[in-house]
Amino acid sequence: MFSSKFSYSNSKSSYSDLLEDIESGNIESIFYYPRQREIDVLYKNGDKIKIPILYNDQLILEKATENKVELTVNNSRKESAAANSFASISIFLIFILAIVLILRSTSKLASRAFGFTKNQTKFVTIDDVETRFEDVAGVPEAAEELKEVIAFLKEPKKFQNLGAKVPKGVLLIGPPGTGKTLLAKAIAGESGVPFISIAASEFVELFVGVGASRVRDLFLKAKEKSPCIIFIDEIDSIGRQRGSGVGGGNDEREQTLNQLLTELDGFADNSGIIVLAATNRPDILDAALLRPGRFDRKIEVMLPDLDGRKKILSVHSLSKPLSKKVDLGYWASRTVGFSGADLANLMNESAIHCARNESKFITDHHIESALDKITIGLRSSLITSPNMKKIIAYNEVGKAIVSAVRNGIESVDKITILPRSGSLGGCTKICPDEDLISSGLISKRILFSKIEIALAGRAAETIVFGKSEITQCSIYNISYATNIVREMVTKYGFSIIGPVSMEPDNNEIYLGDGLFKRKSLIADNTSSRIDNEIIKISKVSLKNSIEILEKNRVLLDKLVEILLNQETIDRQLFKTETSELLKV
Ligand code: ADP
Ligand code: MG
Repeated sequence: MFSSKFSYSNSKSSYSDLLEDIESGNIESIFYYPRQREIDVLYKNGDKIKIPILYNDQLILEKATENKVELTVNNSRKESAAANSFASISIFLIFILAIVLILRSTSKLASRAFGFTKNQTKFVTIDDVETRFEDVAGVPEAAEELKEVIAFLKEPKKFQNLGAKVPKGVLLIGPPGTGKTLLAKAIAGESGVPFISIAASEFVELFVGVGASRVRDLFLKAKEKSPCIIFIDEIDSIGRQRGSGVGGGNDEREQTLNQLLTELDGFADNSGIIVLAATNRPDILDAALLRPGRFDRKIEVMLPDLDGRKKILSVHSLSKPLSKKVDLGYWASRTVGFSGADLANLMNESAIHCARNESKFITDHHIESALDKITIGLRSSLITSPNMKKIIAYNEVGKAIVSAVRNGIESVDKITILPRSGSLGGCTKICPDEDLISSGLISKRILFSKIEIALAGRAAETIVFGKSEITQCSIYNISYATNIVREMVTKYGFSIIGPVSMEPDNNEIYLGDGLFKRKSLIADNTSSRIDNEIIKISKVSLKNSIEILEKNRVLLDKLVEILLNQETIDRQLFKTETSELLKV
């Protein structure tokens, strides 16, 4: 920065030499840089040197003046001031640059936040849906009802000319995995119209107002594509009843719902748009959503029955190399309570097992292992302690025998002492009752038998090893039993306390109402009666199980022996071994 016109020679000179040289007149000129505490010296012979001096060195200056050496004092303050101002300007510039950068990135963020209603709309549009009704098996009633919708989408003119009104909104109701989404797609596929889908939860985002504008976007898009199907999955996440949330409620959700209601009203009856929505919680939907003109058509999609399960299994084995010996009817009978998605998963797991074993065809063996994996978890390492094996075997066989007595021999699907991930020991698989699954009703008798079965492991241990030798092997079963007993007493009114519901529904807490009322619902007195009743029912059930097993002690010991030898008893073996010996 302090550029000098000198180029320096290598010759070195000391301070005293310099003084001498000044006196003897060898020096042409001196450049003095006070702030750097040095001088540049130009000799008459052309040599140039740099010499450090003291701060504010007067001696050199005096000598130079005395001997008439040309002296130039460098105005370093000016230069350093210039340097300083340069430095401060650069700091200032860097500062400005930083601010600009920060502003730019935040504005990018902001534009992303406010732009994503348009740019990143998450609804998926499929123009050529490949799903057909053949792909949806086991739900004939739902499929039949939806055919009308297809007719409308295919030939809207026919309906319009007659002035007929076709429902704008169809609500598919049913447990998860029963094929609601699949049905919606099949309708789009069959009628050859575009399918626009969005999960209701995606409407609601961090930013207020986004949900409502997404609803608007969705319907705008649908109008462009009409005729088409809009599918809103899990509509309960925005369609919940309004105005009852804690602390003013969830405004964003309400705005979104309001917008949805407006849009549903906004398009004309015959605009060619049909809105399908799916939920498994129709009970919590806002009444406004269900009124005529909106989602006035409700179609229940239930868990498939025996025949339905067989059909679903065959749909999902179409693309797989199934061995001719496999009877899907048999597998349907062993998968009571499975949803379409569970069955699809079963066939997929079977194919995976098949591939892993490097077999060409999927056999019963592969399906069996897949079923085990899905229902009772993966095999973990073997139990080696013979004592533990015995305890587990008695636990499992105890449950199987009580189930056979209470629900029939057919109810036992499999007993195993092979440990599975996530359980203490073995497992007894009990088929749920087909009627129960299809009707959804559960009787007091069935609940009692569930409790007795759950406590049967403890019962078996008690009678075989004695009261003081029982283990904690059945903890999960005990807690399962206690939960059922509590529900019987406080929810279903199945105890001597009477037909009183003492548990506020969980969803009330959702809605906020229940939070404040809950406390005062049960008097202290009643609450101790509930506890007493729960304990009493549990004890009676354990006693019943003990009685059943004592009556069947011979069978119990025999089955345990088989189980210890071969580790698994399947339903066929259980049937043959039990049918003669079982005392009901
Ligand atoms: P939901 O929407 O009712 O939760 P999905 O329609 O998403 O269930 O079903 C998930 C998967 O399960 C489907 O992709 C399909 O493979 C299978 N599935 C479910 N129900 C059926 C059915 N009735 N017939 C054939 N496959 C089914
Ligand atoms: Mg779905």
